[in-house]
Amino acid sequence: MRKSIVKISLAVAALFYFSLTASAADTSCTHKWSDWKISREATCTSEGWKTRICSVCDNWDVETIPATGIHKWSAWKTGSSATCIKDGYAWQQCFLCHAYREKDIPATGIHGWGKWYTAKKATISKKGTQKRSCSSCKKEQTRSIAKLKPFVKFSKKTIRLKKSQRQSLKITYAKGDYVKSWKSSNKKVATVSKKGKITAKRNGTARITVKMKSGKKATCTLKVSR
Ligand SMILES: [Zn+2]
Ligand SMILES: [Zn+2]
Ligand SMILES: [Zn+2]
Repeated sequence: MRKSIVKISLAVAALFYFSLTASAADTSCTHKWSDWKISREATCTSEGWKTRICSVCDNWDVETIPATGIHKWSAWKTGSSATCIKDGYAWQQCFLCHAYREKDIPATGIHGWGKWYTAKKATISKKGTQKRSCSSCKKEQTRSIAKLKPFVKFSKKTIRLKKSQRQSLKITYAKGDYVKSWKSSNKKVATVSKKGKITAKRNGTARITVKMKSGKKATCTLKVSR
């Protein structure tokens, strides 16, 4: 076999090896080839080439290496993040040929809930409502707040007044409740109006009781002195 197939795909290679192959056109040599030596690696999209040399006649043989088709991809980068209901995507690029590709990032299904806020306050007779919404998809969630426990209390346990003094009593109670009645245990010492205003009448002690619609009661002590 005296064939030396010269396949040169690249112009540069052709120029470089032209003189060698042309000058060594000895057809009588049975060629003793060296191992192939890669002169240029093939990449994803471009051919490489390899050469070998005959140790007898110094003739060169050049062969192309086909493009590998294997890209050298960068790491995936996020193009847009996935949200609770919307897919995102990631992309990457080949370092060698700049080929570009994308892939979907599936929607997370996880809502980005905001804080609960009270949409409707609870009272002693009705449940309240709290709401929160997802910042991405605006989906809303509702939950109820338990009814309030009724209570009533005076801001002061003991009140001291001078004779003929008048004073409104301060109480606190749960939303939805209201005063049903006021009562003085000793009307000679002090009276109390429907609105909780005391009139001190004479020296002594009286117990003032407030009764709520809910049934809750509270009492304070009133001391009247000169
Ligand atoms: Zn040879
Ligand atoms: Zn590539
Ligand atoms: Zn959402």
